[in-house]
Amino acid sequence: MNRRRFLERIAAVPVASVALAGGSVESHAQGGSSPGGGRRFVGIQMGPHTLLDEGIEPCFDLIQRTAGVNAVLTYSHAFHGDLRKPARLLAADHGKPPRENRPPLPSVWVRHHDRYFTDTTLRVKPPDPALEYAGRDVFAEMLAPARRRGMKVYARILEGSGASITNFSSVVTVDVYGKPTRIGCWNNPQYRAFWRAVVEDLFRSYDLDGFQWGAERMGPLMNVILPWNDGAPTCFCEYCRARGRAKGIDVERARTGFEELYVYVRGLMSGKPRLADGVFTGFVRILLRYPEVLAWEYQYRLSREEVMRSMYEKIKSVKPSAEVGWHVDHQPSSWDLVYRAELSYEDMAPYSDFIKFIAYHDVLGPRIRWWYLDRFQKTILGELSLDESLNLYYNLFGYDKNAEPAVDELEAKGLSPDYVYRETKRSVASAAGKTKIYTGIGFDVPWGSNTIPGDPDEISSAVTRAFDAGASGIVISREYEEMRLRNLQAVGAALTARAG
Ligand SMILES: [Zn+2]
Repeated sequence: MNRRRFLERIAAVPVASVALAGGSVESHAQGGSSPGGGRRFVGIQMGPHTLLDEGIEPCFDLIQRTAGVNAVLTYSHAFHGDLRKPARLLAADHGKPPRENRPPLPSVWVRHHDRYFTDTTLRVKPPDPALEYAGRDVFAEMLAPARRRGMKVYARILEGSGASITNFSSVVTVDVYGKPTRIGCWNNPQYRAFWRAVVEDLFRSYDLDGFQWGAERMGPLMNVILPWNDGAPTCFCEYCRARGRAKGIDVERARTGFEELYVYVRGLMSGKPRLADGVFTGFVRILLRYPEVLAWEYQYRLSREEVMRSMYEKIKSVKPSAEVGWHVDHQPSSWDLVYRAELSYEDMAPYSDFIKFIAYHDVLGPRIRWWYLDRFQKTILGELSLDESLNLYYNLFGYDKNAEPAVDELEAKGLSPDYVYRETKRSVASAAGKTKIYTGIGFDVPWGSNTIPGDPDEISSAVTRAFDAGASGIVISREYEEMRLRNLQAVGAALTARAG
């Protein structure tokens, strides 16, 4: 039987209870609640507005029937940006037609209470009551339908700008030139207290099963050499300076080093003549003269982790059984060597019940082509051809260059399920059994103004191989609203085949 027919056959089998059944077999085999044991986690990321658009009950039925989902991860706060997308990027086969040109949506989907915000001057702005769904309390509404189906409810947040936060300008980072930015500083005590207040309110006000939080921003070093934006390096606010001094770092030398590095890289990007000694050499020269740059970068990361730890501890103090974990987005999971070098997942384990890392195989192709190869060639890897740089990338990250696309195939082909396997295996090893690894299986993710259509066989294979590599669960990603039915069924097919 060919693979396509096999998938068609097993896709016809309902998978509503397969994840549960398969999980119970695993938990006997692996001995209870150790990482990797217990119920196999099959989460799905879903926008709150999608849930209301499609209707909570039919939507839960659909994800359970097709993909064996047993946990729904929904934004309690959309701090990261507008939830609306053009209809062409949305799946049209969920039973309700996607909506075009919809009016603005709330960015806050829970009710907040001032009494939990006594340690911070920041407040979450309540949504404008005129907005669609502003009167709905989606987390209160989804709990009972989820429980009836044996599904868990996780709140999910991505950090963002402060558009929905009062007084946010008082906690922003400061760049090497003393200029404030629009991003919060991890070392600002008001910002730290804000996050503790948000999660305390969430878990005191709603009977949530878990929480997933992420901040899709790089450390200052990576944002200079692989620039996501043109911003000058941060943060040199009074709190970061005090932290640096307390750690024995010469603050002014760190600032000067970052400024020199920034000026150097921007010069390369604008076509300035290269150093006779070499482009990469110029980069190393600045690090040698200002090793404080590396020390500053490391403190940035530790500060971020401290914010996560304090949220973890706060949630556990309210609800010890809640599962608290982190969204590791695509760059740190798959092409940020600095992030990878700073801490292992084992290092993060004391404040992580799980780590959900992104392993979107399809969209990684164009992302590596344009967000990694192209950018690095314009900055510190100007001496490498794109072929050489891609080869180096595959080798450094442990991916199989014989299985993965060449430069000119990256955009159309994407990476393979073998990448999902290898990155999951690496993550499980990095966690050393101390925390659970959930693989973020991504499909139908847009690139530019179009969707990269997922291939059901590859999606099934990616799910199977994630579990083969030791994942304790998967999180079906990026957003439910983008996922074509046949691809959700492909996830279910893989789970069914594994349980059988
Ligand atoms: Zn700061």
